[in-house]
Amino acid sequence: MTGAKGGFRATVLTLYPEMFPGPLGVSLAGKALQDGAWSLEPVQIRDFTADKHRMVDDTPAGGGAGMVMKADVLARAVDHVTGGGRAADGRPKLFMSPRGKALTQARVRELASGPGAIILCGRFEGVDERLIEARDFEEISIGDYILSGGETAAIVVLDAVVRLLPGVMGNALSGETESFETGLLEHPHYTKPQEWEGRRIPDVLLSGNHGAIDKWRRAEAERLTRERRPDLWQDHRASSKK
Ligand code: SAH
Repeated sequence: MTGAKGGFRATVLTLYPEMFPGPLGVSLAGKALQDGAWSLEPVQIRDFTADKHRMVDDTPAGGGAGMVMKADVLARAVDHVTGGGRAADGRPKLFMSPRGKALTQARVRELASGPGAIILCGRFEGVDERLIEARDFEEISIGDYILSGGETAAIVVLDAVVRLLPGVMGNALSGETESFETGLLEHPHYTKPQEWEGRRIPDVLLSGNHGAIDKWRRAEAERLTRERRPDLWQDHRASSKK
């Protein structure tokens, strides 16, 4: 286990614990882990097998390609982590799955304000459906494409959550105008030099007129959202009419 007790507690059930903390060990997330703002416990699912071949998967009922992760092995791993039986320890249990509900910034925010998460990473064709039902897993997808395993998806979820934990982002304000937080995509950014390859920073940003700058940023955010994400734009329009 890395990180001190007290902060957000992440437990990751995986066949590849060596993938953690991985990218979560560097930069803001890595520093927060060292500082104890969150903790990370990768758990090797294979340690919960009961047979001498240490089998974690088996052939799919009904036939077909691939292998399915076994409910009994997974349940032992989950119960070990939650302290036995079905009683959770207050942390939501998430199964990374392309069939899940798409992860949103709103869900990320909820997770970040809670005690932590127990995250199950699938491999092969996925896991026995009965495990998801019996241990009450919430299925979360990170997008409409298929990964080879849930580990990289778990890293995405934790990355998004950890940066919201208190004290993790140096400049707390930068979180609030960010894409999705306002229901809009964020406005474009520029930094020095004023002219680069013949392209100038928009004059308004150099004007020092903060009212005009806010107005420009707002207009750009609306334009980008309208052009790139009609779905978000529609939701935004609907909610600002209320
Ligand atoms: N047969 C499954 C895909 C299995 S991919 C199907 O068609 O739905 C193997 C594992 O990778 C999954 O069990 C899941 O844990 C993970 N995974 C793959 N794509 C993902 C996605 N878009 N979001 C979250 N997890 C995903």
